[in-house]
Order: sequence, then C-alpha cells, then structure tokens
Amino acid sequence: MEVKNEIVKSLAAGEEVFWLNPKMELLTEERAGQELSMKDIEEAEQRLARFAPLIMKCFPETKDKGGLIESVLTPIPEMQKLLNEKYHAGIKGKLILKQDSHLAIAGSIKARGGIYEVLKHTEELALAHGLITGKGDYERLASEENRRFFSEYTIQVGSTGNLGMSIGIMSAALGYQAVVHMSADAKEWKKKLLRSHGVTVIEYDSDYSEAVIHGRKLSDENPKSYFVDDENSKDLFLGYAVAAKRLEAQLKEQQITVDGEHSLFVYLPCGVGGAPGGITFGLKQLFGDNVHCFFVEPVQAPSMLLGMATGLHNEISVQDIGLTGMTHADGLAVGRPSGFVGKVMEPLLGGIFTVKDGRLYEYMRDMLETQDIFLEPSACAAFAGPAFINNKEEAGRYIAEQGLTDKMDKAVHIAWATGGSLVPQEIREAYKNTYLDVE
Ligand SMILES: *Cc1c(COP(=O)(O)O)cnc(C)c1O
Repeated sequence: MEVKNEIVKSLAAGEEVFWLNPKMELLTEERAGQELSMKDIEEAEQRLARFAPLIMKCFPETKDKGGLIESVLTPIPEMQKLLNEKYHAGIKGKLILKQDSHLAIAGSIKARGGIYEVLKHTEELALAHGLITGKGDYERLASEENRRFFSEYTIQVGSTGNLGMSIGIMSAALGYQAVVHMSADAKEWKKKLLRSHGVTVIEYDSDYSEAVIHGRKLSDENPKSYFVDDENSKDLFLGYAVAAKRLEAQLKEQQITVDGEHSLFVYLPCGVGGAPGGITFGLKQLFGDNVHCFFVEPVQAPSMLLGMATGLHNEISVQDIGLTGMTHADGLAVGRPSGFVGKVMEPLLGGIFTVKDGRLYEYMRDMLETQDIFLEPSACAAFAGPAFINNKEEAGRYIAEQGLTDKMDKAVHIAWATGGSLVPQEIREAYKNTYLDVE
C-alpha cells in the first residue's frame, strides 16, 4: 500500500520514474491455465504467411521480403556512445535498434497488429463466402470481383493516428469501406494521408477513449461493419507477438546469443499496451527469464503504469490522478490502458519508465546526428530505457535482484523504434526545431 501510494504520488507530480513490477515471476516452470500460448503466435505467423502472396500483390514494396512485413535490426554504436557521454547511461553491452519505424505499408509498429487483424477478418469473410479454399489461393482476393465483394463491408477503428493508418490503408487496399475515428491528438498529415487512400476520417475533439466509444457505437449499428477494438483485441495482440519469432531469427543471423550469461533488455514505447504487450508476451515465450522487457510512457500519460501499479488496470485513468493525458508523443497519448494487456503483463513485465516530452525531441536529434535515422517522437521514448536503466535506483534493484550486476557488460539492449518513416519532410523539420523544458 505504502509503495503504491508513493508511485502514484510521483506520477501525479509528473516526475520521471521507474516502476519495478513486483508481480513479475520466474518462468522456469511451465505455467498452466494461460489464455494465450506459443501455439496462438504460431497460428498468427502461419496466417501471415498464407497472406504473403496477396500482400506482395497489393504492396509491391514488400516483394524483397516475400510479402512479409518485417523491419531490420540495426546496431547503433554511435548512439550508444552518445547516450553514455551525454546522459551518463553507462551502457556496456551492445545497443541495437529495432526499426519498426520503417515497416512497410504503415511506417509504424501498427503495421504488425493492425494489418494482421484486417487479414484475419478477411480470411473469415472469404472462407465463409467461398472466395478462397484456404489453400494457397489468397492472391485471388485482389481480383476486381472480390474487391467489389469487400466494398460492401466496412472496417472501423478508433485511433490516435498510427493504428488508423495501418487499418485504414490495409482495408482500403482490399476494397473495404474504411472509417477511422481520430482523437484530438491525431496529426493533420495522418488524416490527409488516409483520405488520399479513400478512407473516411471522422474527427473528435476528445481523447482516444471517446473516439473509440463513438466508433464502436457507429460500427455496431451496421451489421456489415467490423470494429477493431484496440483496447481488447486478442488478434491485434497476437499480430504484434509474431515480432518475437522474427526477432529470434534476426538475432541468430547476427550471431547474438541470448542465454543465462547473455541477457536481452528490450525497451518498448507504450500507449494502450497492445503492441508492447504482444511483443513482450512473444519474447517471454521464446526467451523466458533471459529477456527483460520494459515499457516507456510519457509523464502525462502513464496509463499502463498506473493501471498495473494500482491493480485497477482499465478501471483507472491518468485523469483520475490529475494528469492531463496530453503529450507530444501522439502514439502514446492514452489515458486508460487496455483491460486485458496489463493482466497478461503482470507475471512478465520487468517494469515501466516514464519520460518527459522534451527528452523525446532530444533523443530524436541525437539519433539523426549519430546514426542519421529519423524516428517520430513517440518512438524515441524507447531511448529512455537505455538512458535510465543505470540511473534509476529501482532499476538498479531490478538488475541486482535478477543477479545481473556482473553480467551487464554482456547484455544486449534493444530500443524498439515504433514509428517515423511516413512523417512528411516539413513535419520532420518542425520536430527538429522543437525544444521543451525537461527540468
Ligand atoms: C501505437 C504506438 C505505440 C504503442 O502501442 P500501443 O499498442 O498503443 O501500446 C508506440 N509507438 C508508436 C509510434 C505507436 O503508434
């Protein structure tokens, strides 16, 4: 109780904190009764493979990856050096960037979950109406006739921006009517881009949760409409989780070992929780106790931290403790976390960092300067992980409790860059010149 109140007090004061998840468990023993398992991830992976020929046909830029939507894993030694010198990060092992910022089609991590859910829904519809047999003929879904079939159906979603882009672009490409309900945080250029794809964008003055409520209501009134429920969707979650299997192969390719001596630290920007939660779930399935996953949230929108630390999950919002929920990190501007992700994370997640908006722009400029890679502000939250891991007392306690103190020089740290490649040039220039107080 005492500890819980302490952390809530710090959050309410807008401080940058590290919260160590007291419910994390060792995974050495097989745990029964879990709702989702490795089998579900493998099914999702197989479904994406079935759709690969169709993806290649609709999005020729995915050809060189055989229709798989996957991002590269890039060592960033210059950024590591800068973090160590400028922020005294003390990162001894290796720092790597997972570039979901450059994922095909949607330019963000949402290309994983969002596109997966649209495809799963499409498969169900197509099988039920005999458009495909389920055996290697998915490409035909791109035919004029089948596109006309899909045009009688609607897919809707509530979004702060990037999920809308992922669902909207994919749905429109298959011929669906796509409707995206955008919260007030959503950037103008994302709405414009969506409209250019023929997507209907409905704008709200309110935050993300309101956009979701109205979107769901509208969708429910139409029997031929499907609503992608970011807060509760198991499909989105599993689409994200597939990233873990892809990462495993990439680590192998780069001859990076993950075992009891070589730990993997992964830092993921968190909004409603689905994307970082799905990836964490997948990674824990694969690497067990040798992977250490941490989320990062803005100081004004630490919804997952608040939900997990109080145990109230989606029954508490950041506004309830006097925070605004407003942040320049539009992808993370979520006041209330997913109802189910936090519970799934309880035994798995190491902890959560919060970070001030001003630092996101600093990290963004740092990355451009050292590695010449552009990331959007939300994605830059990932760098608070390596910057803070050796600088927060509670994070030090995590390392000690896990028996890692003497092993940190062999650790690999992954900053999960969640978005950026679609940001227009003039917006990038504006970001580069944005300076906010971090004191
Ligand atoms: C959506 C998003 C996240 C976080 O994903 P959630 O599922 O909302 O937790 C992180 N970064 C960016 C750029 C995003 O768009």
